Amino acid sequence: MRIAVAGLGSSGSYLLHLLSRSGFDAFGFDPKKEGYYIPCGYAANRHSMTDLLSWTNLDFSTYIESKAEEIVFSGTSRRELRFRSRGIVTFDKNRLEADLLKECKWSRTTVNGSYDILVDATGVSRRYLPKVEDYRMHTIEYITSLEEKKEFQFRYFPQGSGYFWIFPKGNKYHVGAGSSSIANIKSSLAPYTPEKIVSRDIRLKPLLHSISDGNVIGIGEAIGTVSPITGEGIVPSMKSAFLLFTAITRSNDLNTIKENYFSLIKKEFNRYYTLYDLLRSFQDSTIQKRKAISYIRASKKDLREFGIDFKISHVLREFL
Ligand SMILES: Cc1cc2nc3c(=O)[nH]c(=O)nc-3n(C[C@H](O)[C@H](O)[C@H](O)COP(=O)(O)OP(=O)(O)OC[C@H]3O[C@@H](n4cnc5c(N)ncnc54)[C@H](O)[C@@H]3O)c2cc1C
Repeated sequence: MRIAVAGLGSSGSYLLHLLSRSGFDAFGFDPKKEGYYIPCGYAANRHSMTDLLSWTNLDFSTYIESKAEEIVFSGTSRRELRFRSRGIVTFDKNRLEADLLKECKWSRTTVNGSYDILVDATGVSRRYLPKVEDYRMHTIEYITSLEEKKEFQFRYFPQGSGYFWIFPKGNKYHVGAGSSSIANIKSSLAPYTPEKIVSRDIRLKPLLHSISDGNVIGIGEAIGTVSPITGEGIVPSMKSAFLLFTAITRSNDLNTIKENYFSLIKKEFNRYYTLYDLLRSFQDSTIQKRKAISYIRASKKDLREFGIDFKISHVLREFL
């Protein structure tokens, strides 16, 4: 079975590594230039990353750049809520992706040739999957130095219109904002001086109902494995890659692979629909109290998986 992986970000480089290591005839494609700095806060839960990398010969601890002690949350009132870390760190994502690709066959082009399976790991562009109703927010991120030491911070904009973040990264910081309002992004970043500016949209709508088309199968942000409330997409996208790898190792029949993958994805990520519903109804001020318990459960699980020891009482105070 010949497999092409289009897009070699977090999900594609991980899948290509797993397939190549297991002896599959797999080839990767990504036209991005060497040294291209992917817009991302580079934050992930070190426990989840360690689990994911246990299927490779790479040691996640060697990629960590900053570890959080506390994570500071605030909203419009600027009242600060502090939570303990459950493993959130920033890491050298570019070096990890380059190392994952070291033993793999790939080229800096778009896909050429014919394949039994074409994996769409092209992130927000979703290049090979059908166009469907989508929801994205625009983001701008600065790489900068700050005089005063800062913790990991999230500051939510009014009515679910996005958030501003500061993530320490070695001796620098990632300071960024994602929002449906450009004014929010601009005003929150105004106090900072960028050494580098990067920008792209982030998909916040789960598209798990549209993850394949013919011999194309999607993973990662292409299918919306991004938390609608935190924008966390690295670990979820790598998890989706692992689920496709599992389905491919279980069968060599395309339809069976697609069926198995779909049920694994639904089981792992269905809660993103609850979180997306929370986000959209928060934006429209149509939150229904009867859904509160499921919103709280899904939010708590989501934030804990990102590596933040979020307490229900805090979620209640902040979001309801
Ligand atoms: C500003 C910002 C900050 C973020 N911060 C965090 C964070 O701190 N933690 C976190 O967990 N998540 C974060 N995310 C989300 C996270 O970065 C993504 O969800 C995750 O990296 C998605 O991985 P992916 O492999 O699906 O896609 P990507 O990593 O986006 O990779 C897609 C790849 O496809 C390639 N490509 C595009 N078109 C084609 C084509 N036609 N052919 C071949 N290749 C193609 C691109 O060059 C790219 O390399 C952030 C997102 C943004 C925008």
